[in-house]
Amino acid sequence: MPDFSRVWDVLVIGGGNAALCAAVTARQAGCSVLLIESAPKAFRGGNSRHTRNMRTMHTEPTSVLTEAYLEDEYWDDLLRVTGGQTDEHLARMTIRLTTDALRFMEASGVRFQPSLSGTLSLSRTNAFFLGGGKALVNAYYALAERLGIDILYDTEAVDLRMEDGFVREVAITHRGFPETVRAKAVVASSGGFQADLEWLEKGWGPAARNFLIRGTPYAKGVVLRNLLDQGVASVGDPTQCHAVAIDGRAPKFDGGIATRLDCVPFSVVVNKDGERFYDEGEDVWPKRYAIWGRLVAQQPDQVGYAIIDAKSETLFMPSVFPPIKADSVGELAVKLGLEPAKVEATIAGFNAACVPGEFNSTRLDGCRTEGLTPPKTHWARPITEPPFIGYPLRPGITFTYLGVKVDENARVRMDDGRPSANLFASGEIMAGSILGKGYLAGFGMAIGSVFGRIAGREAARNARN
Ligand SMILES: Cc1cc2nc3c(=O)[nH]c(=O)nc-3n(C[C@H](O)[C@H](O)[C@H](O)COP(=O)(O)OP(=O)(O)OC[C@H]3O[C@@H](n4cnc5c(N)ncnc54)[C@H](O)[C@@H]3O)c2cc1C
Repeated sequence: MPDFSRVWDVLVIGGGNAALCAAVTARQAGCSVLLIESAPKAFRGGNSRHTRNMRTMHTEPTSVLTEAYLEDEYWDDLLRVTGGQTDEHLARMTIRLTTDALRFMEASGVRFQPSLSGTLSLSRTNAFFLGGGKALVNAYYALAERLGIDILYDTEAVDLRMEDGFVREVAITHRGFPETVRAKAVVASSGGFQADLEWLEKGWGPAARNFLIRGTPYAKGVVLRNLLDQGVASVGDPTQCHAVAIDGRAPKFDGGIATRLDCVPFSVVVNKDGERFYDEGEDVWPKRYAIWGRLVAQQPDQVGYAIIDAKSETLFMPSVFPPIKADSVGELAVKLGLEPAKVEATIAGFNAACVPGEFNSTRLDGCRTEGLTPPKTHWARPITEPPFIGYPLRPGITFTYLGVKVDENARVRMDDGRPSANLFASGEIMAGSILGKGYLAGFGMAIGSVFGRIAGREAARNARN
């Protein structure tokens, strides 16, 4: 049983990448550190354990990254996806510090490998973790233990008792029992609120009940709500979340990357009424995968069905669930629970509208439809070759955008613009300070790693003074 009467220098709330970077940095600066993770040990690591890579600036090729990826190009990429809803100063600082973060990660025991192929092409921009996010998280926990950081699992922060911008103490539950923790400085790294389905419902209405959460069930936004209720300044649109189309058979939580479906560009996608609703071939998949969660969410019962034929079966990373196969379109519709006549008519209309062209799965090709609404502008080939194959689709929520506002020292801001006296934040809980909308693959880990280190450094400095 930990001694809750003591005062730690730094309390870190959360157990994912951002929390671990903060805890290790504060400990390396000579502070006593307590890290509390609401998940049990077997499920530690939040959404970070599902990740695969970090977008990293580099001026020349490295052992795992090709060519160079410079600040201005990284910034342009971010500007495009956010539509300008970002903070240039914080964003450019984050971008520059990714190079340094990579070195810190390597020194902390995180290993890297060259880019995985077959999904989004990221070999120049994103450094892939050997063993994925789970190995990364394990490396940090092993280091934290070696450094003597106190770690409590099954321990949830429920109330950061603030007075005039100062966190006096933190009410927690430790294995279900109420306790109080005191620390000179506090770092909040407790992720988004995407696992709180009632909160999601406020933004999305009853449709949210049918959403699947791709990551941890422990990111319920308890700390975020508590801070906002106490006058901490918020950033980001509360109704917005990053959502992709995933296999509809995925579990409610924690399905991770293996349930994502990348077959949409080669498919005809229908809703439960057997009707198409969007151009499946509008652009290359890396630029479109993140809109399909929202598109499916807008359909009746928040479900879609991707239908391909034998020609396309090997063109994409398959879902972890087996494809549903049939010898005819009508039989496939029945297996998917759809009205066969309706689906047959949709596929027949689509087939008749396909204009002959040269098919190329790796670039925008000349295969399109003519006279069809909505059109399919690339990779449109008649669905004619058995077996016919279908996958159910559901919206899979990756993370929410609402967060707390921080400055360049990761110090939390209050509603009236004043800085908090001893509260810092890193990771998803403050990502809205930089990422107002949209998403750039690998930027979540970039924000968490960079701001985790800043928060750890500044919390240590604060505790010493
Ligand atoms: C399937 C999937 C794949 C992804 N792939 C990538 C990728 O390849 N690259 C990338 O950059 N991003 C990726 N992301 C996004 C990425 O996971 C996040 O941006 C990043 O992990 C956020 O780190 P974090 O530490 O802020 O939050 P998390 O890793 O989610 O950690 C939050 C932690 O806080 C704990 N917690 C929550 N509330 C409390 C509380 N009240 N008290 C105590 N502890 C609490 C949770 O248990 C958890 O451990 C992916 C996300 C998903 C879901």
